[in-house]
Amino acid sequence: MLKIGCHLSSSKGYEAMGKTAVSIKADTFQFFTRNPRGTRAKAIKEEDVKKFLELADEEGITPILAHAPYILNACSKDEGLRDLARDTMADDLLRMEYTPGNMYNFHPGCHVGQGVEAGIAYIADMMNQILKPEQHTVMLLETMAGKGSEIGGRFEELREIIDRVELKDHVGVCLDTCHIWDGGYDIAGHLDQVVAEFDRVIGLEKLKAIHLNDSMNPLGARKDRHAKIGEGHIGYEALARVVRHPKLRSLPFYLETPNELDGYAREIEMMREAWEKQD
Ligand code: FE
Ligand code: FE
Ligand code: ZN
Repeated sequence: MLKIGCHLSSSKGYEAMGKTAVSIKADTFQFFTRNPRGTRAKAIKEEDVKKFLELADEEGITPILAHAPYILNACSKDEGLRDLARDTMADDLLRMEYTPGNMYNFHPGCHVGQGVEAGIAYIADMMNQILKPEQHTVMLLETMAGKGSEIGGRFEELREIIDRVELKDHVGVCLDTCHIWDGGYDIAGHLDQVVAEFDRVIGLEKLKAIHLNDSMNPLGARKDRHAKIGEGHIGYEALARVVRHPKLRSLPFYLETPNELDGYAREIEMMREAWEKQD
């Protein structure tokens, strides 16, 4: 079966997210570990986690994907901001140990004029400081649209980061369809070539999750504005081919489209139907 869910609010805790996922026929979900525009986090309630793990086991809700606050910048010019990114993500990885065996996604960062190479070095350095052999979480680098000085708009940049990380088993990639489209990878016209390119540059064994989004902008726009499935420039048919692509179809998919729950439920149903069909 297609493994699909959407981004859910974490404000009511883990069990609430699990129940919401079940209610919209999702069998996974993504959530922010803390306020996405800040760094404050709620204390984890062990009773809540325990109930969630029982529910997840019964309903097959696995793996789940945590997302780091997007204000963090591991390759900031400012040492204090780099330290904040490192300390916050290190704390998130500790929190993830309450729900072992899942994934933690982050935006690599913006080099803000220091250059791609300097940015890559800072990001890999941070990962080497916070990843520990005993952790049970895979840390995912998200593919970005490449707007401004964002790192991760090219597969080569993610490959360079991974090359420098020591604990490679703890590292993977989350591919965002809106971002790579905006970055110039034509998944609507040439999906097979883009998948082959990912495999050649990074290796498909590193691809652990997909953010499934349409884009409000044309190919290569470098904008990063998500659209509902079928309402953007990528289009429903192209995204349907993504979910049922032989090299992608067994990955977990996460919708980050501008929707309320009923919209997510519809998109999940649409993509489950698309997955069943043959090309
Ligand atoms: Fe993201
Ligand atoms: Fe994303
Ligand atoms: Zn985005």
